[in-house]
Amino acid sequence: MAELVVIGGGLAGSEAAWQAAQRGIQVMLYEMRPDRLTPAHRTGDLAELVCSNSLGSNLVDRAPGLLKEELRRLGSLIMACADATAVPAGGALAVDRQEFARLVTQHIADHPRIHLQREEVKSIFRGTPTVISTGPLTSDTLAAEIAALTSQEYLYFYDAMAPIVSYESIDLNRAFRASRYGRDSKRGAGAPTEGVGKLSTGFSSSEGDYINCPMNREEYNRFLDELLAAETIPLRQFEQEDVKFFEACLPVEVIARRGREALAYGPLKPVGLVDPRSGKRPYAVVQLRQDNLAGTLYNMVGFQTNLRWREQERVFRLIPGLERAEFVRFGQMHRNTFINSPALLRPTMQFKGRDDLFFGGQITGTEGYVGSTASGLVAGLNAARQMTDKPLIVFPSTTMLGALCRYVTSTEPGGFQPMKPNFGLMPVLERPVRRKRDRHRAYTQRALADLAAVIAGDDETWAL
Ligand SMILES: Cc1cc2nc3c(=O)[nH]c(=O)nc-3n(C[C@H](O)[C@H](O)[C@H](O)COP(=O)(O)OP(=O)(O)OC[C@H]3O[C@@H](n4cnc5c(N)ncnc54)[C@H](O)[C@@H]3O)c2cc1C
Repeated sequence: MAELVVIGGGLAGSEAAWQAAQRGIQVMLYEMRPDRLTPAHRTGDLAELVCSNSLGSNLVDRAPGLLKEELRRLGSLIMACADATAVPAGGALAVDRQEFARLVTQHIADHPRIHLQREEVKSIFRGTPTVISTGPLTSDTLAAEIAALTSQEYLYFYDAMAPIVSYESIDLNRAFRASRYGRDSKRGAGAPTEGVGKLSTGFSSSEGDYINCPMNREEYNRFLDELLAAETIPLRQFEQEDVKFFEACLPVEVIARRGREALAYGPLKPVGLVDPRSGKRPYAVVQLRQDNLAGTLYNMVGFQTNLRWREQERVFRLIPGLERAEFVRFGQMHRNTFINSPALLRPTMQFKGRDDLFFGGQITGTEGYVGSTASGLVAGLNAARQMTDKPLIVFPSTTMLGALCRYVTSTEPGGFQPMKPNFGLMPVLERPVRRKRDRHRAYTQRALADLAAVIAGDDETWAL
């Protein structure tokens, strides 16, 4: 039988390779790292998380949580490894990034039908079934090839990553531990438990999953003034042409420019948090989320930024509790590359101009770690089905997986922007439900029932 080529061993490529191999297909997975790194990746591990260590909500009646649950039911490698390396993060699924990537790499390397080739692919193979999953930082040569193949201009937008500080440098006499509304990971529905317990720092998740840096009005205003005056890194020529930020990942200084209260109602919102020292809700709160299992690193939640590094140090040290913060990684802004999927792809993630070519991951516009995994899964699964003469699967749009794939492949191509999972992508319920929470539950029940029907109606190997 022919071999499937998967280009790019990120979240989508690892998932695609795994799905195909599990169905008996020989896979050649090309990954250019560690010889050639992208501007964001630092290691040679597959499925490296380049920014936040959170995969978003793990609550099954939230859109990202539902997508995770669907992927689990479809035997997702990425979800299995994420669950196995989870760290406390309230209702979210956050992982120890090193352990997670190590585990994915090990599973792929050990799979008898996957050959991992460490090499940059510079041109698209002809006459070979292929999945392209080279992500938002696709190497330049291959990006030019893809642009030529698609006969369309690439689209770009800009994303930014948040800084990470060391735990020992946080002043816990000023900061306090708590989860918003007391929603710790132990109590969060569907929260991971494996490997989550006492951390080496001596805290358990029941003491609150987040470290919160509270600000009074004066501290907030001083911080805001300095943030607004801080120097940012100038954009390069090609970046200046058309700067489009992704709304869900705006740099903190860009949000600040929208109005003096924008941060207090956005990433610094204090709702659901009470400072145990004052017994009151602070004016604003900067949350820090655990970034590794050892609990030695913390991510500044929502603090994506393009400030100069020395400015990040100066301005972010004005945050109470971070006066002596040691920045183990500074925030950065980067380019994000994606194709015009609505014009180019079918909901099977198949390229319209070539039946044996599939795209998966962020390059298709399914946004975020789990969204990227989802389209990677569909690409790998359908590539395998095509190679074994089975009809390709289009997941129902009543499932989050189907809704996301359908959105990126059938929305209006003009002004196309990547999309995160959300209930707005799904067809409305047959019987309207008024309360939002009940409505979301109804979407979830319908999605899981419809997914179960797809699984039951097929002879696929779905389990991991
Ligand atoms: C800096 C940055 C920060 C982000 N932060 C977040 C975040 O916090 N949360 C979130 O949900 N999403 C985030 N994203 C968006 C997105 O979810 C991630 O980029 C995600 O990793 C995408 O998965 P992927 O598999 O499509 O691409 P990637 O994970 O980037 O994998 C692509 C792989 O292809 C390889 N590759 C590229 N070109 C070639 C080639 N020519 N030959 C061989 N290999 C190649 C790369 O080395 C890489 O390993 C971020 C993106 C970037 C760039």
